[in-house]
Amino acid sequence: MEQVDNEVARRVEQTLDAVDRALERLRHGSYRTCRVCGSPIDDDALARDPLRDSCDAHPELL
Ligand SMILES: [Zn+2]
Repeated sequence: MEQVDNEVARRVEQTLDAVDRALERLRHGSYRTCRVCGSPIDDDALARDPLRDSCDAHPELL
């Protein structure tokens, strides 16, 4: 059980980090810009996953 709890805690922390980064990008006006290639991330993609920070060209990062 402890093992499972550790895994859950790790995933929750990763989610919190992603939220922090998304808020930071919103503040700096880079929320809709891909961090890898600088392309705009389309609104549909952000609606599906508001925490994503890269465009569809980098599926391995999602
Ligand atoms: Zn990109």
